[in-house]
Amino acid sequence: MIPTKEVFAIDESEIHALIRDGRGGRHELMRILARAREAKRLTLSEIAALLRVEAPQDLAAIFAAARGVKEQVFGKRIVLFAPLYLSNRCANNCLYCGFRRENREAHRRSLSIPDILREAACLFELGYRRVLLVAGETPGEASLAYLCRAVEAIYRETPMPIVHVNAAPLSVEGFRRLKEAGAGVYQCFQESYHGSTYRRMHPSGPKRDYTWRLSVMDRAMEAGFDDVGMGVLFGLYDYRFEVLSLIAHARHLEQTYGVGPHTVSVPRLQPAPGAALSEAPHPVSDEVFRKIVAVFRLALPYTGVVVSTREGASLRDDVVRMGASQISAGSRTDIGGYADGAARAGTQQFSLSDSRSLDEMVHAVLDAGLLPSLCTACYRTGRTGEHFRRAAESGMLQEHCLVNALLSLAEYLERHGSAESRAVGVQRIAAALENVSDEALRRRLIDRLDRVRQGEADLHQ
Ligand code: SF4
Repeated sequence: MIPTKEVFAIDESEIHALIRDGRGGRHELMRILARAREAKRLTLSEIAALLRVEAPQDLAAIFAAARGVKEQVFGKRIVLFAPLYLSNRCANNCLYCGFRRENREAHRRSLSIPDILREAACLFELGYRRVLLVAGETPGEASLAYLCRAVEAIYRETPMPIVHVNAAPLSVEGFRRLKEAGAGVYQCFQESYHGSTYRRMHPSGPKRDYTWRLSVMDRAMEAGFDDVGMGVLFGLYDYRFEVLSLIAHARHLEQTYGVGPHTVSVPRLQPAPGAALSEAPHPVSDEVFRKIVAVFRLALPYTGVVVSTREGASLRDDVVRMGASQISAGSRTDIGGYADGAARAGTQQFSLSDSRSLDEMVHAVLDAGLLPSLCTACYRTGRTGEHFRRAAESGMLQEHCLVNALLSLAEYLERHGSAESRAVGVQRIAAALENVSDEALRRRLIDRLDRVRQGEADLHQ
């Protein structure tokens, strides 16, 4: 399984051999965790050993190491964002998805550009500062042009600073156009790296082509996307196979382009209205889910781990303490759901388990002793791809991002925060001031804090 620039492939028998390998034991686990704590690159064999761990005390050691690495690289920050679904029209037939072509019950809708702008403006008013555009797959020039127009219109007509895109694989030329339109991260999930599972789950449509999807990140990077988001849909096949394969894929990107994925997402299969598959063929328990998050954190220390609202509130509150660094909040997966509400919105892609609003998530993250971040400075200053990686490795994210996160939190609290989140947030920002040595930044933060306090006082008059 030596990746080359031309073709990346999964050697299924090698991955299965790693899973079957019986080596391990507590001494070996401690050796691997010591390396992981220093953010050393783990081998696939070491990662397989972590995935074999089941004993509660050994899992606890993995979770503690993941928490340590998360804090070392990203500090206490948890990035918050929302998906913005553009269209549920789709040429594919993925067995697990409510948007699938053969779901005759689906209420289909594609947002017009004015609709998209209303959704983006609505999200900005709620306090979001980055959105992830999501669309079903409709091949052809019209759909790429629609995606590009959507990205450009949001930047031009709304104050939303960052627009990421989750869309079907494009050609290199298509990616160049999407990049020129201003898309930040390009995200696409392999769903399953296991060939026969992949083909069974995707019986028809362009997505049936496993190889075209597997090579998507190479085309995106060749076209200039230095930040890409990868993921699999857990529950379709053996989670150990999927984790090892995704990490092999990430290593291929690191070796070929000098930078690995910006994010890894860990969705678990959830029931979806109109989906052909109602249960996961390979269910993943909550405990295994925690292990997956922690193993990704240790194996890819500089990559963001994203947990969506598919997961329930208590599990999400848990995994932000042990490795996850980005979470969606207040998500709607129906079409037009933010501005229009459920009555007019099109069918949703899957069922959500955590319906807390952005403000409730801000409060929950603060309650967990962490720092919600709505900061977009990296994208505004071009600190992406390799630049981001170097900043993370040098420890600069810790210092620099702490202040940016505090400023963005204060701005959020001042304009959008509820009385409850303001109360907790003000205390947290005030306590963090002592760690800010730069006098100018400290001043800015104190000014912001005063404005939040003033707003709070006004509320009580
Ligand atoms: S998962 Fe994506 S590609 Fe598959 S049916 Fe749903 S929207 Fe279409």
